[in-house]
Amino acid sequence: MQYHLNGFRPGDPRLAEAAPGAEQRRQNKLPEYADVLIVGAGPAGLTLAAQLSAFPDIATCIVERKDAPMEKGQADGVSCRSMEMFQAFGFAGQVKHEAYWVNEAAFWKPGRDGGIVRNGRVQDVEDGLSEMPHVILNQARVHDMYLDVMRNSPTRLAPDYGRQMTALSIGPEAEDYPVTVTLEPAGGGQGTETVRARYVVGCDGARSAVRKAIGRQLTGEAANQAWGVMDVLCHTDFPDIRLKSLVRSADQGTILIIPREGGYLVRLYIEMDKLAADERVADRKIAIEDLIAAAKRIFAPYTFEVKEVAWWSVYEIGQRLCGKFDDVPAGAEDSRLPRVFIAGDACHTHSPKAGQGMNVSMGDAFNLGWKLAAVLRGQARPQLLHSYSAERQGVAQDLIDFDREWARIMSERADTGGGAETPAFQKHFIKHGRYTAGVAVRYAPSVLTGSGDHQALAQGFGIGTRFHSAPVVRFFDARPMQLGHVVKADGRWRVFVFAGEDAGPDALFSFLASDPASPLLRWTPPESDPDSVIDLRAVYPGHHHDLDAARLPALLKPQKGQYGLTDHEKVFCADQRPGRDIYDLRGINRTAGCVVVVRPDQYVADVLPVAAAAGLARYFERIMQPAS
Ligand code: FAD
Repeated sequence: MQYHLNGFRPGDPRLAEAAPGAEQRRQNKLPEYADVLIVGAGPAGLTLAAQLSAFPDIATCIVERKDAPMEKGQADGVSCRSMEMFQAFGFAGQVKHEAYWVNEAAFWKPGRDGGIVRNGRVQDVEDGLSEMPHVILNQARVHDMYLDVMRNSPTRLAPDYGRQMTALSIGPEAEDYPVTVTLEPAGGGQGTETVRARYVVGCDGARSAVRKAIGRQLTGEAANQAWGVMDVLCHTDFPDIRLKSLVRSADQGTILIIPREGGYLVRLYIEMDKLAADERVADRKIAIEDLIAAAKRIFAPYTFEVKEVAWWSVYEIGQRLCGKFDDVPAGAEDSRLPRVFIAGDACHTHSPKAGQGMNVSMGDAFNLGWKLAAVLRGQARPQLLHSYSAERQGVAQDLIDFDREWARIMSERADTGGGAETPAFQKHFIKHGRYTAGVAVRYAPSVLTGSGDHQALAQGFGIGTRFHSAPVVRFFDARPMQLGHVVKADGRWRVFVFAGEDAGPDALFSFLASDPASPLLRWTPPESDPDSVIDLRAVYPGHHHDLDAARLPALLKPQKGQYGLTDHEKVFCADQRPGRDIYDLRGINRTAGCVVVVRPDQYVADVLPVAAAAGLARYFERIMQPAS
């Protein structure tokens, strides 16, 4: 973590210096105008708010119907990919500390002579998939950590609770604040408020009012499966209660066990009856006693006695998806710019079986946040905003397809033969490990994503996939670390130059330092730190003792801040210890080297040759615009 750049400041370094006026937040009153109005403070809304809170020049407002922050319930699965994103926000360490780590999963099936038997245990996340674990932590704690990021940010952003969006209209594009949103007190009190916004993002869940206001619909299979979920403290002699386990009985149903943080709490998902076509789960009047009784039947002959129920719910989830995640009709992208977006459950819903609800929702918001910031700050062309729906709708479609397949496999009759064959659900779980870890997303070639002409220079940095971190040694302080951890949720691009043993990057560095076509010179506003828009980093293949600091270009020792202090954290060397060389781990051409362009949301935008200075310039030319 870097701090003290603009002078020594005592105290917690996570607390950023407040922007002028940020501490005097309005008292229980919404602003009349906002650059971005976020509706809903669930995982999607808070990810977006935390991202935007980093920018003092963007006026963000987030409203939430509930009276206060969430305390318990709902989702709890945090994928490796989400942990990588939390690292960028600065709280992955805290989540690791508090959470349950999913290391293995167990599968149980009906025993030949009745009861249930363990069919197998498998490693949950394959080795090397991510430097981050797959963890379980209550959605409410994830909210808390985002709220901390916002509270500590320069804007000191906080949600306005107790407000419910009731209407939204979009005026002419020429207006500065074309979207008008009406809000009412959620408890039914007096006092309608109106906010005019440049952009509105509906993160307001499956029954999204924003989605309805822009005329979009969730289509697909309606909910016809009731699920019971309970977080309990219990006595049981079932041996795998501290492992993520799928337990299928012969004729009493299926339970998914999710051990929870803290060592004692456990979540059980119990698949309840199918609902009729027009039936709502509420009509069934299912009670907690019904869930406990179902669990006892499935666990038998093992005992299961509940001592305390922390939270429970019965809900129905259909696999449903919106055709587009913004207000621009399909085909009208050339003539209209998006003003209203939807994210998370507002545009896709599915079952909780694969633990994706919170993760994909946060991924949506992380994709959108930097784009909104870049456009609002005048760095990027507003057409960039079309890429949000284009990229995330595909991700959601994959999720729906995956979930449908899971549902089909789960509804197959359990094998009671006690045979050695691996059941279909266990095979499916293993086969799709990369998917459930959240690292299988690959954005298609577009203005943002290169076509892969030079992918061979770094096979392990798949273009369109998330930047897969690997170990390095930071040169100036010899600190072993993960290279991916230099990517923060700060809206900046990263350009990683991997020097080759034969092809040094000196020509590229002199182009970047002094050529008028250099993207660093063109897109960085005057008076700003040289890495404020594009953060250049270099990695060398040799031992860090063999690199000469005096021969490094000035570009890699930039002077920043009010004192012009040198940033000593731009240069890295391959970690020479066995199995830790980033060139080997990521298939980087050791002779030729390469350049890897990484988007602010940690996705690989392109891989280019070290000699392709013009190609690098062209990449940014397509997206950026001169600062106004
Ligand atoms: P949400 O988390 O739904 O957040 C939307 C927010 O918007 C809410 O806080 C809501 O109060 C607010 N809001 C809605 N309308 C308005 C409005 N008009 N004005 C202002 N604010 C508004 N997933 C799992 O993986 N496992 C589970 O066990 C599980 N249980 C769930 C139980 C329930 C009751 C629900 C509703 C969801 C559950 N989910 C579960 C789904 C998971 O929580 C979601 O996938 C995830 O939270 C999606 O995040 P989101 O931010 O898109 O939406």
